[in-house]
Amino acid sequence: MSSTSQPLVAFRQVGRTFESVEALAPTDLSVSRGELVSIIGPSGCGKSTLLRLASGLDKPTSGDIQFATDSVGYVFQDATLMPWRTVRRNVGLLAELQGMSKAGIRAAVDRALATVGLTDFADHLPHQLSGGMRMRTSVARSLVLDPEVFLFDEPFGALDEITRGRLNLVLMDLFLDRSFAGLFVTHSVEEAVFLSTRVVVMSARPGRIVEEFHVPFEFPRSLDLRYTLEFAELAGKVAKCLEAAA
Ligand code: ADP
Ligand code: MG
Repeated sequence: MSSTSQPLVAFRQVGRTFESVEALAPTDLSVSRGELVSIIGPSGCGKSTLLRLASGLDKPTSGDIQFATDSVGYVFQDATLMPWRTVRRNVGLLAELQGMSKAGIRAAVDRALATVGLTDFADHLPHQLSGGMRMRTSVARSLVLDPEVFLFDEPFGALDEITRGRLNLVLMDLFLDRSFAGLFVTHSVEEAVFLSTRVVVMSARPGRIVEEFHVPFEFPRSLDLRYTLEFAELAGKVAKCLEAAA
């Protein structure tokens, strides 16, 4: 899948300092529709900082960010569901806050639940779900607004490997269906290479981009791709780069 011309988010020498701590060194990064860019780097290197900047929730202390859309979805590391709301009402939350009509919410929620495979759990409460299902609910909640830019901050980091693999497939289907511009923060080299069109490796704090890897594998990808020689070679290069960066 190739990216179309104009980036939806473009960082130009974007830096972020908190009081005396430089979290993000001046960074250039852009992401276009049809690109899913993984960001990988040591803990504390500014990945979440970069994502918050890309969402518009935080402002850079140097450089500037150009947005070609204000339609941004954000999936956090924790599912952050409201425990007293059913899956359906959690998924509808952002749409409710945007003032969408009841019928509009219902249709969008049904579609999002079907996409993440949770139709049968619409009336469950969060505590009745597995960790993987809670993350699906969280993804569905952002999906309802059909964002053009989709940001993920280590969404599957706390899940077991089998569940993570399944959710990688869900996310890939979503990406192929909606063709958003995605930024995906992860600790896992395998997950980064499997999902993305491009992998960006960051250095230890202050974070800066040390290397970008183009991922050449065609979509849709099957999980078996992870056991091929080509995949292992690229993942090995990314892992070496990450070790050097940390
Ligand atoms: P990562 O997500 O890569 O683990 P973060 O972006 O969360 O890293 O943090 C990068 C650095 O910036 C850390 O040293 C962190 O303590 C600091 N930092 C992040 N957010 C804030 C904040 N709101 N106030 C002060 N320091 C912060
Ligand atoms: Mg983080």
